[in-house]
Amino acid sequence: MTHPLRIGVLAIQGAVSEHERALRAVGADPVRVRDERGLDLLDGLVVPGGETTTLRRVAGDSGLIDALRARRRDGLPILGTCAGMIALADEIADGDTPLIGGLDISVRRNGYGRQVASCEAQIACDGLGTGPVEAVFIRAPVVERVGEGVTIHARYGDTPVAVSDGPLMAVAFHPELTADLRFHQWLADQAREYAARSDVHTKEGLGVGA
Ligand code: GLN
Repeated sequence: MTHPLRIGVLAIQGAVSEHERALRAVGADPVRVRDERGLDLLDGLVVPGGETTTLRRVAGDSGLIDALRARRRDGLPILGTCAGMIALADEIADGDTPLIGGLDISVRRNGYGRQVASCEAQIACDGLGTGPVEAVFIRAPVVERVGEGVTIHARYGDTPVAVSDGPLMAVAFHPELTADLRFHQWLADQAREYAARSDVHTKEGLGVGA
């Protein structure tokens, strides 16, 4: 791979600059994505937290959701945090239609209820980094069902809060608000593999589509 690792951050809402800081810290070059064209030439993508209702309204009308879905089907590595987890879920309880989808999980928005809506906890994390992870929850979704092919990396009580399947990782908390880089590091590693396989970069090397 000859170019810097380009990782998009969906910049419709949420902690965009915090994700950019974390991506720089793992050696990637963050790119703000606001429309379909911003998805070109990406090696990976972060879907930050925020409100899925806003994401649905803003991105749904513009065709960005369809474009995101197409890139996801093409194997683009994606890290979704909080509302980003909801965006990656194949099923949203209470009848909302899926957004980007791709992860065989069912989530319930704001499922912890108002009283425990926001909290911090040290939780064990498997297969990523070392030691417990500091998890900051802000009106987090609850994962109610996890499909067979999905790996659970962390739980809060009995509830899965970090899950992955291939190039998709969904986290119910906000790693970008702490100094813990393991999830961004995971994305950078996936993105590097994706870039090495990707035809786009071969074309770019030949000067096509620049
Ligand atoms: N409560 C938000 C939703 O349901 C998610 C909260 C967050 O991303 N911090 O869309």
